[in-house]
Amino acid sequence: MIVMKFGGTSVMDSTAIDRACEIVKGRLGRRPIVVVSAMSKVTDALLAAGRAAGNGDRDKALELSRELRERHYTTASELLHTGLFTEIHTDLASEFDTLDELLRGIVAVGELSPRTSDYVVSYGERLNSKICAAAFQARGLNAVVVDAREVLITDNQHMKAIPQVDEIEHRCKTIVKPLVEKGVVPVMGGFIGATKTGVQTTIGRGGSDFSAALVGAALDAEAIEIWTDVDGMMTTDPRLCPDAHRVKVISFEEAAELAYFGAKVLHPATVLPAVQKNIPVWVLNSKNPKNEGTLIVARAPKSRNTFKAIAAKKRITIVDVVAARMLGAHGFLRAIFEIFDRHGAAVDVVSTSEVSVSLTVDSNEAIPAVAADLEKIADVKYEGRKAIVCLVGENIRATPGIAAQVFTALKEINVRMISQGASEINITFVIDEDDVPEAVRRLHKTFFTNPDPETFD
Ligand code: ADP
Ligand code: ASP
Ligand code: MG
Repeated sequence: MIVMKFGGTSVMDSTAIDRACEIVKGRLGRRPIVVVSAMSKVTDALLAAGRAAGNGDRDKALELSRELRERHYTTASELLHTGLFTEIHTDLASEFDTLDELLRGIVAVGELSPRTSDYVVSYGERLNSKICAAAFQARGLNAVVVDAREVLITDNQHMKAIPQVDEIEHRCKTIVKPLVEKGVVPVMGGFIGATKTGVQTTIGRGGSDFSAALVGAALDAEAIEIWTDVDGMMTTDPRLCPDAHRVKVISFEEAAELAYFGAKVLHPATVLPAVQKNIPVWVLNSKNPKNEGTLIVARAPKSRNTFKAIAAKKRITIVDVVAARMLGAHGFLRAIFEIFDRHGAAVDVVSTSEVSVSLTVDSNEAIPAVAADLEKIADVKYEGRKAIVCLVGENIRATPGIAAQVFTALKEINVRMISQGASEINITFVIDEDDVPEAVRRLHKTFFTNPDPETFD
């Protein structure tokens, strides 16, 4: 059994869905379970519609919904012949009518709660899984749509709900596995789930990778395949550096660091359920399916190069907490961290001096609330529009003098904070957002001009 997850760009229109279908057909012997994202940009549009409704902008909300309705109708009509299309058209029409009613309801109450937002956003994956399953059937696959809300059980923390692993395993074994054993290809939406009592939830942006890993782990899959629009994990974001190389094999730990620090190609939590069960994860290109992609495994083989890849995460704010009298005092750091924790603001990089602590946060919405509390105990300064750049590689552990090479490559770029993670596999620093392209290109040139052919393509 394998899990094949198709990201937004791999199911963005009829051509892409057609391609995905061929890829699935080529793997029928491995008994695939398919997990699909919403078509690309649909999640953003649904969130925007929900927000517009919450702000009382009824016309904008309904216009966004109308555009989405058209896009789903068009995609389905291009994929299906008349009989099947009529069937799914009726279904899509009634779904979009319900969505419009919901948006009008949000306008009427004048508020978009996280619970309602999850309900609105779930349309992306729910409808696309129906369209994909119908298209697969029309192309001769014995495919069936599985409602992710009956399988992916979570707690009730809307917008970033925590999957309940034991319950998911039970549901996968009773709902999904029997289908696979009958020779059926289950098709389910990623990213969305529900509480045990059936209230819809979502597991965080980019969460379809996570869904795929959870299903794969629950069923002890032989492999999890993340199908996307690039040849695998690259030495850096190919949009920043067109000469980025494909990484052939990378360790789970390295992939997790990269994902966390902005390599959008993979959701950070994805690797965990797979790691625990030693299930290999492949990142593959749906537009170039013959390419070998990237294999993510527990232990990566040794490489000649120090680093595996460079990631960058923008929209970071540095918070400087200055308290000349307090810093040495017992419990001061704890008090600061408690404030960030209370407001759910994750801290990425920390550096301390005699009289100050600097921290970086990426959840900009939480900053005003954090600030109000911090100001009760210290002087606080903020610097927005920063970015974290992170170099990852297990060889860092064994190579002296790396920091010097990194900073030589970066000369003339103002580096604000530096940290080498406790995991010893990353070097992380903070710079101005505008310096990211230049910094990444220089680092890439320094460390990847001579890539080890065993590890890189
Ligand atoms: P999907 O829709 O398949 O989930 P995403 O947009 O979430 O795709 O992720 C794929 C994108 O991630 C690529 O198009 C690429 O621009 C970006 N990306 C960022 N860093 C990397 C990296 N190191 N390797 C590969 N892709 C990366
Ligand atoms: N559609 C969701 C998002 O855009 C989940 C995903 O694509 O992984 O965040
Ligand atoms: Mg993604």
